[in-house]
This record gives sequence, structure tokens and C-alpha cells, in this order.
Amino acid sequence: MDPNAGKKYMFNKLSKEQCVTLLEKENFKRVTVSFYKYIILGNLMNLRDNLYKNWNDLSVLGRIYLAEEGINAQLSVPEHNWKDFVNNINSYTFLKDIPFKIAVEDDGKSFFKLTIKIREQIVTDGLSVEDYDVTNVGEHLSAKQWNDAINKGAIVVDMRNHYESEIGKFKGAICPDVETFKEELPIVKDLLKGKEKEEILLYCTGGIRCEKTSAYLKHNGFKNVSQLHGGIIDYIRQLNNNKELENKFIGKNFVFDERRGERISDNIISSCHQCDEPCDTHVNCKNENCNLLFLQCPSCQDKHENCCSVECIEVENLPEKERLKLRKGVENKKMYYSHSKVTLNLRE
Ligand SMILES: [Zn+2]
Ligand SMILES: [Zn+2]
Repeated sequence: MDPNAGKKYMFNKLSKEQCVTLLEKENFKRVTVSFYKYIILGNLMNLRDNLYKNWNDLSVLGRIYLAEEGINAQLSVPEHNWKDFVNNINSYTFLKDIPFKIAVEDDGKSFFKLTIKIREQIVTDGLSVEDYDVTNVGEHLSAKQWNDAINKGAIVVDMRNHYESEIGKFKGAICPDVETFKEELPIVKDLLKGKEKEEILLYCTGGIRCEKTSAYLKHNGFKNVSQLHGGIIDYIRQLNNNKELENKFIGKNFVFDERRGERISDNIISSCHQCDEPCDTHVNCKNENCNLLFLQCPSCQDKHENCCSVECIEVENLPEKERLKLRKGVENKKMYYSHSKVTLNLRE
């Protein structure tokens, strides 16, 4: 049974357009914040409803996953409610003093609604409890320690998906060509074969994926595994607070909200998937049946009507009635559905 069923009154009932309009009318600033914690949680449905009520009352927006293994949250909080929000967080024993990661580039429009979902896992990793030991994770490195380790020649592995590392990464990092974290874990283990004694550095957006990865690698014989504390988000915060630190991250930090990415350095390391010009702006194909996430430059957005392919342009140009007919019974494609294994085909 869907654990979220029968709770419709505890969900946002507005359409995306209505939410966006409301957000645009706001005359205050928002803070985009994320946090996670691996901790055994019980009574998830009550917890969910309770968090939803408290955070909704504070006009918090965002996406939160709860599971028996913990919480993973990405939120946008009105600046004037920030204190109340922190007090509310600290009123939950399991969340007390949880480290926040605060976005560096923020237009206040990272999320347009509040969703709290109960899931099997807070990050789908496909591992079973015998595959790792939660008490044996890698050492957490500060930005300074991280830079020093890179300077000493450690192996750097990007634990994100291909569409994330495509637009930004640490110089020299190994970036596996994967679409999911689940498929990435065994691939990384194989890639590192023979390097069990070398120093291995792991990073991801906010640190959560590295918790499991480091435990998994250590369980599989890797002796020297460390992870970037708080991920790229916190690395940048530390850099901003200490101008002496060198920035080793190039390009944009992909984020899983409406902003899609935060610019970290001026380098554009990727190109438009349609014309090959330098571009690091992710868009979703305008054809909702497709919704493909890809890189499209402003001139191609114009030329190809915000679509990924000729087929999608055709669908977009159908009368609304026809389009609705096509959409009927078709499941919504995920916002972060990508395409490493598909070639974008634009017939001229
Ligand atoms: Zn282009
Ligand atoms: Zn498309």
C-alpha cells in the first residue's frame, strides 16, 4: 500500500502554475538549505505529518525524503522565518544541531511546493546491509584537508551522475558515466581495483552519497578512503569564508531543484547537446511526454522551440486537444530523467 495514500489534505493541492505565481508574488527572500542524517527512524507517517504541518506553517518549500534509515531534505525557508525554522528543527531530538548546507547562489526560487515523501531509502543505493558497515565510514575532510590531499596526488572520484559532473567537477576527478547512484557503486569499485592501498577521495553534492560509498569501499578492502565534508556545497561555503583557499572545482554545481545549477567558477566545461557551442544550462524538453533533461544553449532553445528533437517539436505544435490525448495514460517522466545512452537527433 502507498504509505502516502489517504493523506491528501496534508499535501499541496495547487497546480505548478498556481505555485509559481504565488512564489513570484512573494516580497521576501528565501534561504535554500539542505541536510541529511542516517539514523534509525520509526513511526514515519506521524513524523511526516508532523513535519509537514510545522514547516508548511512556516511557508517552507522543498523536497524531503524520510525512510527507516534517516532523512534527506532540501528546503527553501523564508528569511524572516529562519529563526523559527531552526528552533523547530532543534525541537526534534534526531535533528538537533544537524549541519545545514546553505546554497551559495540563490534567487529564492529553488522550490515551488513542499513535498515530504516516505521512501524505502533516503538515497537509492541497491545495497543490502551485508554490503557495508555503517560504523566504518571514511574520514570527513575539510576544504583545506581536501585540497592538501589532492595536491599530494590522491585519487578523486565524483560520486554523482554523468549529467551532474558534465557541467562541473574537481579538476582531474574520475567521473563515471552513470545515470544512477545504484549503478555507480559497483562500477566505482571495479574502476579502483588494484588501488586498495592508495588514498581515495570521494565527493558529491552535499555529502550524503559518500557516506554509503566510503562504507562500501572500506568493506571491500580499500584502506584509505576519505570524503569531502558537506560535499561541494559546503566546500564552496568554506572557500567563501577563507579567501586563502584555492578553488579546485571548475564549472557549475548541479543541484536538484528549480535552479538546476550553481555557478562556482567561470569555466564552461560542457557544450550544447544540439550545436556543440559551450553551454552548461540544463533544461527539460518542453514536450511533457518527453521531459528529457539536457544542455541547450539560448539560440538552440529558440531555434528548436525548447524541444530536444523533431518529434517533440511536432508534438508541441499539435492543437492542445491532440496533445492531451497523447498525454492520457502516459506516466509523467521524471524531472531528472537524462539521456547518456541516447543521441539527440535533429533532422534539419
Ligand atoms: Zn546550441
Ligand atoms: Zn523531447
